[in-house]
Amino acid sequence: MKLVILDRDGTINNDSDEFIKSPDEWKPLPGALEAIARLNHAGWHVAVASNQSGLGRGLFDVASLNAMHAKMHKLLAAQGGRIDAVFYCPHAADEGCRCRKPRPGLFEQIAERFGVDLHGVPVVGDGLRDLQAGVAVGCEPHLVLTGKGAPLRGQPLPDNYPPGTRVHEDLAAFAEWVIAQPARTIA
Ligand SMILES: [Mg+2]
Ligand SMILES: [Zn+2]
Repeated sequence: MKLVILDRDGTINNDSDEFIKSPDEWKPLPGALEAIARLNHAGWHVAVASNQSGLGRGLFDVASLNAMHAKMHKLLAAQGGRIDAVFYCPHAADEGCRCRKPRPGLFEQIAERFGVDLHGVPVVGDGLRDLQAGVAVGCEPHLVLTGKGAPLRGQPLPDNYPPGTRVHEDLAAFAEWVIAQPARTIA
């Protein structure tokens, strides 16, 4: 199968230092849902791996998170696209869990759910932690210059990013790039 793993906030939708706490606050970035639909049409399955420490901090509850994802799935379906699964870390930063990126727990959950080795699977995110978490399980790192990545536009990539990190303007540019690559699948 062909699988890509996407971060959510700042990659698919707008991000906020105040957290995205409700469906009203969840707004897709321009072209992002269309990009996911294009990936799907090219045969890619899409999973999301997202830190949602606002849950652990009590800023919103699971019902609100589910409602945000229902909105995401609905808007995406209207574009002819589909996200297979959303994996999130509900913990606050000080809980020391294994699933909060840059730790690899969400990726391990995805590997288990899909029954695949994630070696070479593209991971796309707007922040260093997204890429570190993916690289820890062998994913191929892709940074988008939206969300927290936007300040890096026009700058050289900082040295602390994983070797081989590819930089894309946004999720649409990533989709265009990966679709143009020679066919590759994972076991
Ligand atoms: Mg993000
Ligand atoms: Zn966690």
